[in-house]
Amino acid sequence: MTRKFRVFATCDIGESIELLRQRGYEVEVYAKPEAPPKSLIIEKVESGIDGLITTLRDSIDAEVFEAGKGKLKVVSQIAVGFDNINRADANRYKIPFTHTADVLTEATAEFAFFMLGALARKMWTAEHLTRENKWGYWHPYLPFLGDEVTGKTVAIIGTGRIGLAMIKKCAGFDMNILCYDPAYQNHDYVRAIQETMDLRNARGICKEKTWIKYVSLDEALAQADFVSVHVPLLREGESSTPTYHLFNELTLRRMKPAAFLVNTSRGPVVEEAALAKALRENWIAGAALDVYEKEPLPKDSPLRDPAIEDRCRLYPHVASAGRITRLSTDPDKGMAGRTAQGLIDVLEGNYGGNVTEMPYVVNKEAFAN
Ligand code: NAD
Repeated sequence: MTRKFRVFATCDIGESIELLRQRGYEVEVYAKPEAPPKSLIIEKVESGIDGLITTLRDSIDAEVFEAGKGKLKVVSQIAVGFDNINRADANRYKIPFTHTADVLTEATAEFAFFMLGALARKMWTAEHLTRENKWGYWHPYLPFLGDEVTGKTVAIIGTGRIGLAMIKKCAGFDMNILCYDPAYQNHDYVRAIQETMDLRNARGICKEKTWIKYVSLDEALAQADFVSVHVPLLREGESSTPTYHLFNELTLRRMKPAAFLVNTSRGPVVEEAALAKALRENWIAGAALDVYEKEPLPKDSPLRDPAIEDRCRLYPHVASAGRITRLSTDPDKGMAGRTAQGLIDVLEGNYGGNVTEMPYVVNKEAFAN
């Protein structure tokens, strides 16, 4: 039996909580579905908890770390993105924090692909038409036509874990692929995708030859029929290639008028006022969003404008929300399992207590000698 650690979870992560309790942990879970007030998180941390389970809606910064000074040992986040956690503050207080990379990669990429397809083929409009009993005839081009995905060109902005998975899915739909990533280029992966494209063409599986290549952002925006965004939210000062408002008036205007934008990354990567204008004024053909500058999406958001509703798909931050992906207790399959394991690794001193060797810890730099 391990020492009885005390943990506060700002949200329920399912069966994994029970597994922690079975290990002898005392775990308190914030019972409401919405985020707890920050004052409550601070109160819990101040009370001397050893571990804090958080998610992307909790702001974790110096105030929280100061409250936990000398007591709080780990913050374990159920999400891969950690823009809600101030990394510099965590490092200053030497608190390791963990995230759930990899286990949500395929689920997020497939949702991005489905968003892309639903947008291009107007599935939302089509279903409304049927449900509202406005489907009066079959006609070659009425009441509307969508745009095919097969054979088109997609730009993948950010070729990290999810971007690469999205590439794989787009290749399966015989798309040409433009890749852009200023910080990390996986040329081996791109070469392997090209080989599979060539093989599919050589064996008659895909009639047209398709291709994949790294290009500049300008080239990607100018040439793509679809632009899919897979970057972390990095604000000015956090990176030499910040992504905050990467999509703004200037970059949206560089896209083709017939092109579609898909964003499953983080809301502030897209300047929503500029996007709403781009949709209203037809600079681009459409957009599908899973994430927003402010979540939940405010009632008065310009993205809700009925004038653009047929070309603006809105989803409630659910790209990773698959049953297994979210809740499996297996750290190799589920975000919940990985969150619990990240917490256990730090609290129970796995890997000889060497934080830099713990696979789910993000801020290893704070513990390197
Ligand atoms: P990752 O770190 O593996 O990949 C991100 C890539 O973006 C990296 O290769 C990085 O070099 C690149 N990048 C950084 N700055 C860039 C820039 N200015 N332009 C282009 N590329 C840039 O991360 P991941 O696991 O692929 O996740 C990506 C992001 O997706 C997460 O940070 C998270 O915010 C978001 N996400 C959202 C959901 C959802 O439910 N909607 C689910 C999972 C992840």
